[in-house]
Amino acid sequence: MGVVVQKFGGTSVADPERIREVADHVARTVKRGDQAVVVVSAMGKETDELLHLASQVSKTRPGREMDMLITAGERKATALLCMALHDLGVPADSFTGSQAGFLTDTNHMNAKILEVRADRIRAAVDAGRVPVVGGAQGVSTANDVTFLGRGGSDTTAVALAEALGGVCELYTDVPGVFTTDPRVVPVAQRMTRISFDEMLEMCAAGCPKPAMRAVEFARTHGVRLHVRSAFTWELGTWITEEESEMEDAIVSGIVGDDSEAKITITQVPDRPGVSARLFRAMASADVNVDMIVQNVSEQGFTDISFTLPADQLDNVRPICEQVAVEIGADQVLADPSIAKVSLVGAGMKTNPGVAATVFETLAANDINIEMISTSAIRISVVVAGDQCDRAVTVLHSAFGLDAA
Ligand code: ASP
Ligand code: MG
Repeated sequence: MGVVVQKFGGTSVADPERIREVADHVARTVKRGDQAVVVVSAMGKETDELLHLASQVSKTRPGREMDMLITAGERKATALLCMALHDLGVPADSFTGSQAGFLTDTNHMNAKILEVRADRIRAAVDAGRVPVVGGAQGVSTANDVTFLGRGGSDTTAVALAEALGGVCELYTDVPGVFTTDPRVVPVAQRMTRISFDEMLEMCAAGCPKPAMRAVEFARTHGVRLHVRSAFTWELGTWITEEESEMEDAIVSGIVGDDSEAKITITQVPDRPGVSARLFRAMASADVNVDMIVQNVSEQGFTDISFTLPADQLDNVRPICEQVAVEIGADQVLADPSIAKVSLVGAGMKTNPGVAATVFETLAANDINIEMISTSAIRISVVVAGDQCDRAVTVLHSAFGLDAA
């Protein structure tokens, strides 16, 4: 018997029937003797709808009002789930983030948790009740309602698990973390376990779930995470300190991400301060630059390429053009349709030849590599956007990850 924080994502509570199913699962958790604490997201696509609504009403969309609006989605879901639990004879109380003791900074739309004063939640648990907490929300040091940002409910759940000394179950619409996206590669396999380091590399490489910030929080505070399905209710994937169970697997997972674009600046004068000038301009424009490649200098000139989120391309291009003029470079070329394919695995640290196998496999399949970057446990390559799925498929097979 212990505290289990169960977080249910938007699809898990999308309609009345789903809410009753979730209530049923929580009731079973309680019956088996665990102390359940529940965190819910807004129902279905409600967060998107509220954001859209705001954009139809207002041009300015002040942060304070946006947070009041968005957090209403989770608040609705908490009350409805509590009603469903009451129907099953399970005493349950809904809590907003503020009531649950989530103190945050004043950064609206993307607030950071400063402290979790979980006394009220602990008291509810001790009284044998199930607290149902609105995800992704808190109250700021200025006493205003705050939203923790997209995917923030995962963070709420992990923070509660750490405050209450429990484990954290993230219920979602997929049965766990897979060796790659099973919609792209049907023979992808569910992992039973993955290490925090590997999961974080996969998140950074573009794996959409779980939310990276929550995994980081969990690693920092040593909270064990279990990603699992709210549709099949089967056991999912544990994310823990230990390295992945498949000892001899060199690669644990492969992530394809086609959300980035590439900019190349040609004929850049090769002298100190030029890259600094360019990337300071990117930083000032809040551009999240990912891979950077600078070619060998020939006759005092070099090409610089970098990747960035594709949806920032239109804003960034004119900035690059201006910097190019200032530093005396030639052209700014933009490629909106690239894809980054990343292979992640702790086994890379001790096994040479992983990069060679990646390059040979892609070459054998006539897939051209445009950029390469690595970390101790990751290799990423940039390929043409329309070759992403094929690259993932052939690499998945080459590294022995296909299900038998
Ligand atoms: N509902 C919010 C979102 O979709 C927060 C969350 O559930 O994580 O981002
Ligand atoms: Mg793209």
